[in-house]
Amino acid sequence: MNITVVGTGYVGLVTGACIAEMGNTVVCVDVDPKKIENLKKGILPIYEPGLETVVEENFEAGRLLFTTQLPEAMEQSDIIFIAVGTPPGEDGSADLRYVLEVARQVGSLMTRHTTVINKSTVPVGTADLVRAEILEQLELRGKDISFDVVSNPEFLKEGAAVDDFMHPDRIIIGTDSERARKAMSELYAPFIRNNPRIKFMGVRDAEMTKYAANAMLATKISFMNEIASLCDRLDVDIENVRLGIGSDQRIGYHFIYAGCGYGGSCFPKDVKALISIAHQNDFEPKLLQAVEARNEQQKQSLFNKLAAHFEGDLKGRTFAVWGLAFKPGTDDMREAPSVVLINSLINAGAKVKAFDPVARETAVPEFPEHWFSEGRLQIVDGQYEAAIDADALVLVTEWKPFRRPDFKALKKLLKQPVIIDGRNQYDLSQVEREGFDYYGIGRKLVN
Ligand code: NAD
Repeated sequence: MNITVVGTGYVGLVTGACIAEMGNTVVCVDVDPKKIENLKKGILPIYEPGLETVVEENFEAGRLLFTTQLPEAMEQSDIIFIAVGTPPGEDGSADLRYVLEVARQVGSLMTRHTTVINKSTVPVGTADLVRAEILEQLELRGKDISFDVVSNPEFLKEGAAVDDFMHPDRIIIGTDSERARKAMSELYAPFIRNNPRIKFMGVRDAEMTKYAANAMLATKISFMNEIASLCDRLDVDIENVRLGIGSDQRIGYHFIYAGCGYGGSCFPKDVKALISIAHQNDFEPKLLQAVEARNEQQKQSLFNKLAAHFEGDLKGRTFAVWGLAFKPGTDDMREAPSVVLINSLINAGAKVKAFDPVARETAVPEFPEHWFSEGRLQIVDGQYEAAIDADALVLVTEWKPFRRPDFKALKKLLKQPVIIDGRNQYDLSQVEREGFDYYGIGRKLVN
């Protein structure tokens, strides 16, 4: 099959590369000429485990092509994925301008029957807007060409995106067209050979499924964080509570970790968008509002714990921060809790030395340039280097090398043996034995 994927971000590039891997010819289109130029040289715009190899092999085999020119891409393909961003607008609603711009271009270029597949996360009813945009362009051109608009939301997780795409838990396809259903079944057949988890439904149902999935995951996190805040006040260890409740199969162990808040490009944006959709439909989404509010507070929890430990006296102190990306396995800094912590610390007059295994380059633009030039913020090259002469170590992202550190070495490097563990990675008895003052999220204090 000949396929066009518009947008070469986390979703578009992974989609394009994985579909090419199955023997299809895929043209990836992006408006960013630098991204396309780099991709042609084998330089990826994002860090994603395993992606470089899939891109390189398929590019060399001539199955994966890159261009800024949609007309060129559309010459060959009658299946077009829209995988552009849908960032939050000022009121929290999903900004559809990029999706609708692609729809407009598709309508102005289409010459034969085309299946337009929306992979971006979009509010219920967006497929109708995409359809209207395409129709308007066709009418302007005086053309009567048939086309389908399909909703096919993406569920990949950053950090495991290639694996998730290759072995999906489920594939959601919203369409009422038999022709589109056939095309989609053919396209996805190689991905579900051993596990036919393809679910067809209405377009609006598919659009809502994506938001509901992310809102449910965000709810689980905020729920655990709320219980953890209570645990903090009651001298209870949330880690024991987690193991206790997870053993109930109706609850399960997945995604019930307390921590310093969820970030990334999806949960915060999609919860906000769903709240906005509710308001537009005269409905008060009380639970979703609480999920979001709890998360905002949770992102402040690490700073609050430091401020409490040092009795508000943070000025002039230096803090080591382990992990900048919003989660391990990615360089994505969007809505990362580390940004909230570092901003609060520096605004309180402290200095920060941070380390992240991959998110160095993407982290720099998140902070004012003068913080670096004035030495208030340093991004260093090693995790132990960050700890040298720091008043405390704060674990923000649970990258694997941070999980079992050399506590003896750490204790020697730190000015004071204080650990704030934003991901509950460390064993309480071990940190106690090693002589640290330790604060987790909803755990018994050790000091
Ligand atoms: P991204 O910001 O990483 O990438 C979007 C890309 O689209 C950019 O490279 C941008 O230059 C390009 N673009 C914008 N307008 C364009 C146009 N008119 N023509 C061609 N290219 C254009 O975004 P992302 O993280 O890949 O997310 C894309 C969509 O997928 C969003 O709706 C998001 O909510 C959804 N989604 C993301 C994830 C994730 O983990 N990142 C997972 C599931 C779904």
